[in-house]
Amino acid sequence: MKKLAILAALAAVIAAYFVFDLGEYFTLAGVKALAADLAAFQERNALAVIAGFFIAYVLVTGASLPGAAIMTLAAGALFGVVWGTVIVSFASTIGATLAFLSSRHVLRDTIEARFGERLKAINAGLERDGAFYLFSLRMIPVFPFFMVNLVMGLTRIRTTTYMWVSQLGMLLGTIVYVNAGTQLARIDSLSGIASPAVLGSFVLLGIVPWLAKGIIGVLQRRKAYAGFKRPRKFDRNMVVIGAGSAGLVSALIAATVKAKVTLVEAHKMGGDCLNTGCVPSKALIKSAKVASMMRHADRYGLTPAEPQVPFREVIARVQGAVKAIEPHDSVERYTGLGVDVVEGYAKIVDPWTVEIARNDGGTQRLTTRSIVIASGAEPVVPPIPGIEASGYLTSETMWDAFAQMDAAPARVAVLGGGPIGCELSQALARLGSKVTQVEMAETLLGREDGDVSALAREVLEADGVTVLTGHKAARIEGRTLIAEHGGAEVRVPFDALIVAVGRKARLTGFGLEDIGVDTAKTVVTDEFLATKFPNIFAAGDVAGPFQFTHTASHQAWYASVNALFGMFRKFKADYRVIPAVTFLDPEVARVGLNEREAAEQGIAVEVTRYELDDLDRAIAESETRGFVKILTPAGGKDTVLGATIVGAHAGELIAEYVLAMKHGIGLNKILGTIHAYPTLVEANKFAAGNWKKAHKPESLLKWVERYHAWMRG
Ligand SMILES: Cc1cc2nc3c(=O)[nH]c(=O)nc-3n(C[C@H](O)[C@H](O)[C@H](O)COP(=O)(O)OP(=O)(O)OC[C@H]3O[C@@H](n4cnc5c(N)ncnc54)[C@H](O)[C@@H]3O)c2cc1C
Repeated sequence: MKKLAILAALAAVIAAYFVFDLGEYFTLAGVKALAADLAAFQERNALAVIAGFFIAYVLVTGASLPGAAIMTLAAGALFGVVWGTVIVSFASTIGATLAFLSSRHVLRDTIEARFGERLKAINAGLERDGAFYLFSLRMIPVFPFFMVNLVMGLTRIRTTTYMWVSQLGMLLGTIVYVNAGTQLARIDSLSGIASPAVLGSFVLLGIVPWLAKGIIGVLQRRKAYAGFKRPRKFDRNMVVIGAGSAGLVSALIAATVKAKVTLVEAHKMGGDCLNTGCVPSKALIKSAKVASMMRHADRYGLTPAEPQVPFREVIARVQGAVKAIEPHDSVERYTGLGVDVVEGYAKIVDPWTVEIARNDGGTQRLTTRSIVIASGAEPVVPPIPGIEASGYLTSETMWDAFAQMDAAPARVAVLGGGPIGCELSQALARLGSKVTQVEMAETLLGREDGDVSALAREVLEADGVTVLTGHKAARIEGRTLIAEHGGAEVRVPFDALIVAVGRKARLTGFGLEDIGVDTAKTVVTDEFLATKFPNIFAAGDVAGPFQFTHTASHQAWYASVNALFGMFRKFKADYRVIPAVTFLDPEVARVGLNEREAAEQGIAVEVTRYELDDLDRAIAESETRGFVKILTPAGGKDTVLGATIVGAHAGELIAEYVLAMKHGIGLNKILGTIHAYPTLVEANKFAAGNWKKAHKPESLLKWVERYHAWMRG
């Protein structure tokens, strides 16, 4: 409705322009004649002329009609330099804003729906530097006035910013044209108004904001380093703090390109992923899966059996998996690869010096050209009354505690409905614990779509987990968690309380606060992963915003390459295509947008689903729970904007869509690719097939049907 009203108003103005042949007045000759006529009238009705001129100017510019330059000249002739400038400056800003708003309301949604992903980077740039861009566009007269209005309307720049920057940016040009207008009689052509010298000055002024930005950057850097003395020589090219996924990869890259690098680890090589995170949790999940299969062996035509769960042995197997992977991340391996590994606690003393309290005693000081902070994250423990005395466990402490147990804890309360909470709840329930999962929000896996959260709840409940969503942990009394729900108290007795409500970056205790590295929830970095000190970078959980092993190693590449070679070329961390998997059974895997995010971001999408109960291999495996859901742009393009897969091995299946999104491969190409039969990954192809079916050319097929009928005679 709003769109139609805007279009109707624009059409009326444009129609009037042509019907009354107003274009005739917007020529140099026309305006000269009009100015002479108006001059006499103006003496008697000055206000009416100003108002009429103002409105005409706003209408012409608001409807993106040609004539703004000529009218600016006329303003000079009619009102003189000062008043002409004031009138044009406001009229042009209002007109420009109307054109900008028309473009925004009529076109932006459609453009965003089509090019949402690609526009993201542009909009992010505009958020940061929008005023600079606009000011330059306004100052440099090679960019047509109407074009700037229409294009900026498609972006997410704020209207108020747009207005004041436009007014300021156009002011100089307005003065030049209005001033020329005072000499209207002597002007023969528009191009004569702005000489090459004047145009050159405009261009120079247009780049002033960029120069200013560069200078401010240099001054900020100087300020950051003020008070620190830069060594004349360095012991190392790079020191990496933390040997988790981010630190190991950073150090490996540095050593591979022959830099002298020291990797410092205070605790265990491999960090959280190997020792307390991904590896042990996935090993536990596998044992739990086998227990579940035994319990439900009748699904495979076998006699079900209640599994015996010697918990010590289960945990010994988990530890065995960690031990088997340990050599990949070991001191010996990394030393062999050319990394100087120091086991100890690192502290940044100044932007070029790291002091290490070595685990084997003594301290070591190293000067270094660059530092990569890869100190990871640790579990958040919410300040619930009674929690300290409850003997709670976290992902960091539970493995050692489990290793002391002969049986899985009888009653487990899991606090948190995110991926880690869900994975642990299901695994422990399958291994014999009576699990109650308590989540404050209304759904589990809150970042996922409603259908995914519902399925997660369904499978957890099927495994015997009591899922309490919308329950806020209020306090702990001895071994009972008390949660609030709808004004009532719900009591959850436990033998083990596992806190899995999130993880926070490790930011304190190793010098960041002393030297003034900016931190918020994570270390604050720019898009190159540099902190406010251009030689100090951050990667992994400590840099955020993701908390995955694969994003930690992805960021490590950018941090280390920018740290070592940034003076030649810097690379912006690319977060466009990031997969995430929750290792529930069935797994939940996603890349790109889901329906919830598309709605939040106002991106119009088409949703295509394929249900796994239709897939031959899934049927043969009795693994029919789940679906493939693909998001493509509304309007029929086959570009993959996002994919969610719930099902057995969804974490493997999602790789095809990760590849497709990363390299711009559409659903037509996935459909045209041979997938081996019978495999689970065929689901991806069938989902693409469902999309294709929804887009078959119906009218053409009617003709083809007629053709076949005709061929039959
Ligand atoms: C239960 C659980 C399951 C998970 N499952 C998955 C999964 O399936 N897939 C996935 O992608 N991710 C998973 N994660 C997340 C994954 O473990 C992390 O994203 C990943 O470990 C981050 O790596 P990082 O290098 O940033 O930090 P970390 O692995 O935490 O490494 C940081 C290291 O820095 C060391 N350190 C800190 N400060 C200092 C200092 N001052 N001096 C010296 N050393 C220091 C620490 O001791 C630590 O070893 C899981 C996490 C948990 C807790």
